[in-house]
Amino acid sequence: MTFIVASNNAKKLKEITNILEGIGHDAVSATEYALKSNPEETADSFFGNALIKAQAFKALTPLGVIAEDSGLMVEALSGAPGVYTARYAGPNSTDEANIDKLLEEMKTVEYDDRTAWFVSSVVTILPDGDIISALGYTRGRIGFEKRGSNGFGYDPVFYIQGNRSFAQLTDRQKNEISHRGRALRKLAFKLRKIRRMKGNI
Ligand code: IMP
Repeated sequence: MTFIVASNNAKKLKEITNILEGIGHDAVSATEYALKSNPEETADSFFGNALIKAQAFKALTPLGVIAEDSGLMVEALSGAPGVYTARYAGPNSTDEANIDKLLEEMKTVEYDDRTAWFVSSVVTILPDGDIISALGYTRGRIGFEKRGSNGFGYDPVFYIQGNRSFAQLTDRQKNEISHRGRALRKLAFKLRKIRRMKGNI
């Protein structure tokens, strides 16, 4: 099935496209179809915000769309930044400013208490209007300093086992264990079941 990917974030779009293509789905960016939308993400959950984005783009096309909302939940910060991950250091903040703020907030937090989760909610709206969603998580730790130069967003301070950051992994290594990879593979599994139920979609 071909999906229009409802995202204005080029790096995220590349990850979503690569993961979907790896599991046999075509993904085309909304920009390629000249579809533009930038809805306000007003929901208080990742799912709610992914749904807002998917619905905004679905209103512009009869094709299937897929949207993703993701963020970081840090245990020592009671789950923050959560749905505010992209705007942690203020509206339109840069990745760098967001990371600086996070490291500042965490500066007195000991190694063992720096557990964090990346969460990804993916929502697809099929051509017939049916909505399917899936959630993926990756557990890690917020590092004390930035490491690596791959990826995007908070990757340099999100450490996995062995104290390697997401930004030190290759794209393929990250996709295998990332919240986004896990959510999209779950979604693909659900789509296969639905395809069997409905016939070819
Ligand atoms: P969204 O684009 O509104 O879903 O915002 C997601 C926020 O979480 C942005 O600040 C991203 O940089 C951050 N984020 C989501 N996924 C990742 C990831 O895989 N690596 C690093 N940062 C991420």
